[in-house]
Amino acid sequence: MRDLSAGPRVLLKRLRELMAEPLEPQERLDRIVRQIAQNMVAEVCSVYVLRSDGVLELYATEGLNKTAVHLAQLKMGQGLVGTIAASARPLNLSDAQAHPAFTYLPETGEEIYHSFLGVPILRTGRALGVLVVQNKAMRNYREDEVEALETTAMVLAEMVATGELKKITKPGLELDLSRPVTIDGNSFGEGIGLGYVVLHEPRIVVTNLLNEDTEHELQRLAEALGSLRISIDDMLSRRDVSMEGEHRAVLETYRMFAHDRGWVRKLEEAIRNGLTAEAAVERVQSETKARMIRLTDPYLRERMHDFDDLANRLLRQLSSYGAKLSAADFPNDAIIVARAMGAAELLDYPRENVRGLVLEEGAVTSHVVIVARAMGIPVVGQAAGAVALAENRDAIIVDGDDAKVHLRPVADLQRSYEEKVRFRARRQAQFRALKDVEPLTKDGKRITLQMNAGLLVDLPHLNEAGAEGIGLFRTELQFMIASTMPKAEEQEAFYRNVLKQTGGKPVTFRTLDIGGDKVVPYFRAAEEENPALGWRAIRLSLDRPGLLRTQFRAMLRAAAGAEFKLMLPMVTEVAELKVARELLQKEIERQSKLGEQLPRKLQFGAMLEVPALLWQLDELMAEVDFVSVGSNDLFQFAMAVDRGNARVSDRFDILGRPFLRILREIVRAGERNNTPVTLCGEMASKPLSAMALLGIGFRSVSMASTAVGPVKAMLLALDADKLGEILNAALDDVRSETPIRQLLVDFAAANGIPV
Ligand code: PEP
Ligand code: MG
Repeated sequence: MRDLSAGPRVLLKRLRELMAEPLEPQERLDRIVRQIAQNMVAEVCSVYVLRSDGVLELYATEGLNKTAVHLAQLKMGQGLVGTIAASARPLNLSDAQAHPAFTYLPETGEEIYHSFLGVPILRTGRALGVLVVQNKAMRNYREDEVEALETTAMVLAEMVATGELKKITKPGLELDLSRPVTIDGNSFGEGIGLGYVVLHEPRIVVTNLLNEDTEHELQRLAEALGSLRISIDDMLSRRDVSMEGEHRAVLETYRMFAHDRGWVRKLEEAIRNGLTAEAAVERVQSETKARMIRLTDPYLRERMHDFDDLANRLLRQLSSYGAKLSAADFPNDAIIVARAMGAAELLDYPRENVRGLVLEEGAVTSHVVIVARAMGIPVVGQAAGAVALAENRDAIIVDGDDAKVHLRPVADLQRSYEEKVRFRARRQAQFRALKDVEPLTKDGKRITLQMNAGLLVDLPHLNEAGAEGIGLFRTELQFMIASTMPKAEEQEAFYRNVLKQTGGKPVTFRTLDIGGDKVVPYFRAAEEENPALGWRAIRLSLDRPGLLRTQFRAMLRAAAGAEFKLMLPMVTEVAELKVARELLQKEIERQSKLGEQLPRKLQFGAMLEVPALLWQLDELMAEVDFVSVGSNDLFQFAMAVDRGNARVSDRFDILGRPFLRILREIVRAGERNNTPVTLCGEMASKPLSAMALLGIGFRSVSMASTAVGPVKAMLLALDADKLGEILNAALDDVRSETPIRQLLVDFAAANGIPV
């Protein structure tokens, strides 16, 4: 056992009394530094606070010239103090002036002091300032002294965070804690959201820092660690994680950390120095976080994150307060800020109050992002540091158009965004006004406008947007957000609900399109070198006929007595459709044998996404009731560019000659065979490319719900035949080099078409 000096305990006790006294902030700070100096037998004790302009200002000192208070300043990274703040690590030097970073500030009179110990004032991993002690004699501060000073710095962090120092901050300046920050991320969902931060993982605010009874606190820590370990073991033994997999690996790591002696020792030491158990966890966590923010190695970062998550769990075990914001406190316009989160967790928030989502991680294809987009809220992902920089209820703007997050925006920025939002709202209102207008082009062509969906949260958009039905219902989303495979009854109930909510409007269900980038956690197939070209969609369904039949059965039962359409994804050969149809037929027969009611009308279709089908168009059209072009995949395979790889996905123009010619062939084959053809890829969601589709002869498209208004506004102003003539001529002209996109833009401009 190490020597448990009473020093830090006595100091913390004194500080607690000082914090409780009714003092002016400057007076309180002055007394605090005096107290620390005395207790640590230091000749100097100073506090530097980080301002929003990145300057560390001397706020109080015992030992240095008092006239230097609020005058002496160092930039972040400058001098010893700036180095500590920038690195968020302590510096312990016997001869400060010999350190290469030493910067001499003549106004302080510090030249006579040699030894120097400085620690960052940390809060959730952010440095808010620096606390320093100095002595004339050259000495090295002992480890327990460093420890004591770090603990003391927590008290100061609390003072900064509660805003007490605002009163003594020079007019026109702000402390770093309220500094406006802009974070660049990736846009995962378009739109702009203005509101207030709601931290998804509530940060427990530890207000009770100093302990009264060390043994009692050690006991509390031991108990909390005990239940934490049990809860991890419980999670590990749950059926749905007992298999191998990423989820399990994460939990195993948690278990390892929860038993980590080094971590536990640090926590116990902090308690022995006078902290409560929760304050000890926060202190150790804050240090880990500070290091984490600076790590670049993704593996280590991930491990540190695990530690951080674990500390959060432990804090929740220890405190009965600090739970999620209560319903009454939940802002009307909430922006959820999280490191990462599950899709179901997002759905738990009151939907009407959520205006945006910020994630430190995530990818366009992650489930939570899919759900957020379905909810129609802007999403910025890969927003590094967002969680540590944000506090609950901070003002925040999520700009999903520009992939930026503005935390605590300055008034001008806030105003310009409010203007942007008003502008968007006016446009939305104009689109909404079109909701009941018949989609007829200027030359009288009736266009079918449907929307894509995949979750129940999408469905209210059907009426709001004025779509005629659901042209693509991605059934795999239900599977992707579930933690275990949805059972037959769950699938049936879900489809039934979809049909009920769409109130008789047609719905086209697509059978499971998993594999490729659509990962279902509990369905682990072997690793594939090229998953996009691998075992996916209909290929997987035909190899697992039980899965497909279950889905057919669920659909047939849900649609009893009603009309419905179903289609199969990623068909490569017409023969695959025949096999699928036989399976469907078997299910139909089974239902009738059981005396169950069948759908009133059923249409069987195929998605056209694989180029091989282009040379089987007539056979294909003869086999199905309708064809739906999946332009996302068809473009990916036709141009050999990975749709998820930003480096190449925009390399070739979807409005270029090759792809438009392919699409025109499909439309012509549909006309020839009298088979309805529609298109449900992202291409239909952009007014300009939707216009091109109408130009080459499409009369039915399905798109994101938010696109229905803008696309309708476009087509109402379009003379489809006139465009058709120009566009077809351009596509037939083998010598022309004019980009088709340009031709379309010029046509829209010349004819006043909003695109
Ligand atoms: C497509 O490929 O265009 C399509 C609509 O399907 P998904 O985007 O779901 O692959
Ligand atoms: Mg597809």
